[in-house]
Amino acid sequence: MTDMTRRSLVGLGMALPLLGQINWANATLPSPAAETGPARINYNESPWGPSSAAREAMREGIGLCGRYPYDAQYRLIDTFAAEHGLAADQVQVFCGSKLALQHAVMAFTGARSLVVPEPSYEAPAEAAAGRGTQVHSVALNAHHAHDVDAMLAADRTAGLIYLCNPNNPTGTVTPRQDIERLLARKPAGSVVLVDEAYIHFSDAQSCIGLVKEHPELLVLQTFSKLYGMAGARLGLAIGQAPLLQRLEAYDGQNVAPAPTLLAGLASLQDRRLVPQRKADNARLRDQTIAWLTERGWRCTASQANCFMIDLRSPGQPVVERLAEEGVLVGRIWPSWPNWVRVSVGDERDMQRFREAFAKVAGR
Ligand code: PLP
Repeated sequence: MTDMTRRSLVGLGMALPLLGQINWANATLPSPAAETGPARINYNESPWGPSSAAREAMREGIGLCGRYPYDAQYRLIDTFAAEHGLAADQVQVFCGSKLALQHAVMAFTGARSLVVPEPSYEAPAEAAAGRGTQVHSVALNAHHAHDVDAMLAADRTAGLIYLCNPNNPTGTVTPRQDIERLLARKPAGSVVLVDEAYIHFSDAQSCIGLVKEHPELLVLQTFSKLYGMAGARLGLAIGQAPLLQRLEAYDGQNVAPAPTLLAGLASLQDRRLVPQRKADNARLRDQTIAWLTERGWRCTASQANCFMIDLRSPGQPVVERLAEEGVLVGRIWPSWPNWVRVSVGDERDMQRFREAFAKVAGR
């Protein structure tokens, strides 16, 4: 979805809550708009927002806003690096992982092409197209995993090979041995980017551990999804130092906002957050998929906070009719016109989805 479309949706009554309306003391309710507005299960956001500890840290961070918060950024980097057995210069902070993704496209493609799965997160292909870089789209395989052999064969001189694991929009996971095969067989000089925006929801093993042996592997993670901080903008790039230095050419050692950094740190330090939210998301997702399956609808085998439904006829009219019922679901990918993406919200969002879907799709 383009920024203009987002703008017009906000203008059409999907307004964001005014700052003064937010009940900051209540950590479990993201905003009053969630109570009265449409069910927003369209952007793979968290229905729970930042954790209580993250909200507290954000308030503390306001007091630091008069100065550049490099200290907080180094603390975040050190904490993350220690947890993953990395050196501090193997972790780089971005104001959202999308920015890191766009910078990776700028740094590693140009004359050399980009290889992407299809359907997948469009940001890298869009960034490449904007610069006239050739993009090779390779269809997911029959299990909706990346077809790594076809991706390898697409262009033996590719500059960047993009993997999204779990994949947005399908939520499906690509087996570890396939990713390792791709890394072992990739052409020299091709950078492999594994986008792990949704990894915390899944049982898949992160590729961060592979960074040590692969100088041309870049892994991205974000605080926008499970950690519920999409509006705070915090993403991490993990790779060997020389690779990250190539990214830095486009970011110039930027620093993220202090409240964001402290909230990220508090989220990492909260040991219960990932297992709790992972379990809640899985329960709500699997209940919804079971409900759809019982009614004859096929869904992707998701391990993320989104999944796709095969509507067996063009999906766009269904998206529009659901919106009329007050349920905003995700978009359609042109290569899969009959499938619609649904994000996993909270209990109430998913109940509203079931009611609206039953009415609209009539089963
Ligand atoms: N990567 C994937 C696969 C995504 O789906 C998204 C956002 O939806 C992003 C990256 C961007 O996330 P961020 O909010 O960290 O920029």
